[in-house]
Amino acid sequence: STLSHNELRRLFFSHFESHNHVIVPSSSIIPREVDDSVLFVNSGMFQFKDIFLGSRSHLTRAASIQKCVRAGGKHNDLEDVGRDLHHHTFFEMMGNWAFSNAYSKEEACRMSWGFLCDVIGIDPARLYVTYYAGSQKLGIPPDNETKDIWKRIGLPDDRIVPFKSENFWEMGSVGPCGPSTEIHFDRIGPNRPEASRLVNRDNSVVELWNIVFISYERKPNKSIVHLPATHIDTGMGFERLLSVVQNVDSNFDTELFQPMFNKIKTLVPAEIPCYSGRVGKEDVEGRDAVYRIMADHSRAVAIAVSEGLKVNHRNYWRVIRKMIRRCLLLSTDKLHFPRYAFSELFPVVADTLKDPYIEVFDKLSEIEECIKKEEKLFWGLIDNRWVNFDKAVNKAQGTSLNGESLYTIYEMTGLPIEMICDMATERHYTFNVGDFHAYLADHKVKSRTRDPPKSFNHSDFANQNEQPKYEYKLLENGEYEFPIVSS
Ligand code: ATP
Ligand code: MG
Ligand code: MG
Ligand code: MG
Repeated sequence: STLSHNELRRLFFSHFESHNHVIVPSSSIIPREVDDSVLFVNSGMFQFKDIFLGSRSHLTRAASIQKCVRAGGKHNDLEDVGRDLHHHTFFEMMGNWAFSNAYSKEEACRMSWGFLCDVIGIDPARLYVTYYAGSQKLGIPPDNETKDIWKRIGLPDDRIVPFKSENFWEMGSVGPCGPSTEIHFDRIGPNRPEASRLVNRDNSVVELWNIVFISYERKPNKSIVHLPATHIDTGMGFERLLSVVQNVDSNFDTELFQPMFNKIKTLVPAEIPCYSGRVGKEDVEGRDAVYRIMADHSRAVAIAVSEGLKVNHRNYWRVIRKMIRRCLLLSTDKLHFPRYAFSELFPVVADTLKDPYIEVFDKLSEIEECIKKEEKLFWGLIDNRWVNFDKAVNKAQGTSLNGESLYTIYEMTGLPIEMICDMATERHYTFNVGDFHAYLADHKVKSRTRDPPKSFNHSDFANQNEQPKYEYKLLENGEYEFPIVSS
């Protein structure tokens, strides 16, 4: 029998507790302070960012499983979701930290290796590691120290692979960064001769764990400066690891996603083939991708609403709405999904997320209401699209549409740009979609509103009784105090 997701969580926490780590709950996916470098919290280290940048703390070792969203900012996987079997918009990141040299690089590597191979029993013959190849441009030498650490741990040379950009991790456009070493898992089997060449190149070898040696800060002027101390910062995709321990082909075949697929199946007409796990060219009609997108985006939307995000949080809602609308369009188009059925997925979504995010379950009716409103709005826009299109296009002169005209149509119709392009072609307008994107990029910079976190009430999202709430407490001496939370 395999581990459940809750058992995996417990094993992870107890492993790091036994190595004297404080178990810290996930923070919100909304950064606490205005931070132009990221939109959502994109990694487990985010809540410790200030410590890395030099704030002193009583915390020396910590571990957590952090809610992350990569749908904007530096780490943006929105367009990739559905195309492969291991990227999500919302996912959980397991991580452990050692602040200010609390343990060495070697201890960090051994702790991770010990968890994977000894605690949860992954076959070492399926694991490959990477290390930083160095960069002349940044003036940072290759990390041969880490290469030697892996050799001492017992990995043969040909399983230790150097990389440049892939092994220099950065939180955002500014902030903490540093060289990293990563552990990858071969989904096909042990001792595959070609596997080390496929690391970071092919979906059959999937990145599990990234161990970053935070030792630099990227400044707004793009320069890189040394930090006062080196810190260990690790992150591992929980859904990826679960797929490995549950011995299934992909993240989407774990108990976290399968209930959603089952529910979708009951709503899709019988003539549409069921989900079959195909990717890329094999997924000829692109149907399997749509199943994955629906399962993925519905989780992200549920988490976002459970945290208190609403329509008036414009920067955030733009992303959430994009996810909802993508689900509505793709599901009706590719799966013949009924128009007003998307909200029916959410009881299942809440059920798969309620351990450990009970607030998703508590706020289920709010989430469903919000989906229903978005559905009504969107289908209204779709049904009135020609009326709105012709109204908007009246403002444009002649038969060609420039970036601004396309943007006006986009704003007035509320439709995805791809659909607007199709309509414009149907009406024989000439245009270049690149002009639209250029205009949008420019417009976005000018209109950047600082909605959350400033207007955002963080105490609003979590069920205070159920979930121990983790707060920074700034002491008089300028240090941060972290309460000890036992799991
Ligand atoms: P990848 O190369 O697969 O895109 P990454 O190098 O961008 O991953 P990191 O920034 O190193 O990811 O994050 C640490 C870990 O979080 C990764 O090793 C991976 O296991 C997991 N992870 C990253 N992005 C995602 C995602 N979009 N969905 C699920 N898990 C992810
Ligand atoms: Mg990535
Ligand atoms: Mg990577
Ligand atoms: Mg990585």
